[in-house]
Amino acid sequence: MKFLSTRGQTPALGFSDAVATGLAPDGGLYLPETLPDFSGRLAAFEKLSYAELCFEFLRVFATDIPADTLRSIVAASYTRFSDPAIAPLKPLAKNLYVLELFHGPTLAFKDFALQLLGNLYAHQCEVRRQTINVLGATSGDTGAAAIHGLIGRPGTAIFITYPDGRVSPLQERQMACTGADNVFALAVDGTFDDAQAALKEIFADQEFRTRHRLSAVNSINLARVLAQCVYYLHAWLRLPASERGNVEFVVPTGNFGNVLAGWMLQKMGVPIRGFRVATNQNDILHRLFTTGEYRVGDVQPSLAPSMDIQVASNFERFIWFAVGRDPEKVRAVMAEFKRTGAYRFENFNRDTFSASRTTDAEIAAIIARVYRDYGYIADPHTACGFKELAPDRVNVVLATASPAKFPDTIRAAIGVEPTDPSLEVLKTKPIVKHRIPATPAAIRAFIDARAVGR
Ligand SMILES: *Cc1c(COP(=O)(O)O)cnc(C)c1O
Repeated sequence: MKFLSTRGQTPALGFSDAVATGLAPDGGLYLPETLPDFSGRLAAFEKLSYAELCFEFLRVFATDIPADTLRSIVAASYTRFSDPAIAPLKPLAKNLYVLELFHGPTLAFKDFALQLLGNLYAHQCEVRRQTINVLGATSGDTGAAAIHGLIGRPGTAIFITYPDGRVSPLQERQMACTGADNVFALAVDGTFDDAQAALKEIFADQEFRTRHRLSAVNSINLARVLAQCVYYLHAWLRLPASERGNVEFVVPTGNFGNVLAGWMLQKMGVPIRGFRVATNQNDILHRLFTTGEYRVGDVQPSLAPSMDIQVASNFERFIWFAVGRDPEKVRAVMAEFKRTGAYRFENFNRDTFSASRTTDAEIAAIIARVYRDYGYIADPHTACGFKELAPDRVNVVLATASPAKFPDTIRAAIGVEPTDPSLEVLKTKPIVKHRIPATPAAIRAFIDARAVGR
């Protein structure tokens, strides 16, 4: 299968090249040329384990990887999850389930995609006999999950910058206590935006990029979206048959990567009734789905920090579908949005999406209510999903992080402090971080000194 850029000004690529490229050279995002139809295969999928289902799904897209190789890449990607169901679906009440996506090595849903991406990168290094250096900026979860996808992998090194003192202590430990010599946690003196601006400049330097075979880790990689389709399918197959057609997935949302994956799966012939985009107080997507206007705002730091975004980077993929798969129209929308900071869609078709918005004060109250009503501890991101439930539908709330990652917020809300053994182990290990200025020159010099394949 081939993959196109949403902006249509660059050749279509096979799966492995689209994954290795990340952001398309024309500034667009890769999408499958056509969406396959799985409707006739759903019954046959019922008995598959998580890894088997993931393989059957991905093989339709990753046609350039031999089936046996893909099977072992996928199998290896889900061995480090602590729950045998990988993504357990737990009933809380009539018409209400929670889909727990936090049993991977860093206790957040990003492990589903980044464990796989790490194995795909490692595979590529092997077949092409090349090394790869991965670089990313993080405000927390993505960096940790990316690091744990590449930890100790021969032929790879990973450099993650984060704002010193502005990620949670546990998140920092997940990045800086790995003990692996191919992992570099760079605590930059500046904000997340400073770090991201520096990276943008580094990636624009073609010579540097090629010399180190530098690859970006960010939320727009095609492999991440496809890997995330699988847990929706897995959950759908585990619902009673009578409930499947009426399911509404409720998705705590930041960059729109997670919910987009579910929606694309629906377009591949899986009868899902709808999706709720649950934002925190950074509500650009809530405003879009309620008014048809997409307008940037200022980021206000919240209790659900992994959803603190200004612009939802994966949204361009939805735009491509919304404007009739016409790359010229996508370019026009993105150009106007870049120029004015806003775009108003005429006759905006929100398809099967609805949206909600949750303030910090509401997050604390919801954590308390969910604990009281169901005896369930929701992390601050997941709490946004419990804001509004559809009374006439089967609600499946995606739990995107373990409450143990946010002990202070949970303790303040319910007086109980959740823990996780993997986090307790981290607290005993030394922090190894490299403090550097948030400048392209400083980051470049660090990479020059430590990259693999020099
Ligand atoms: C990244 C993240 C989100 C947001 O996911 P998007 O794909 O960016 O919408 C929500 N919750 C947690 C815990 C996250 O780490």
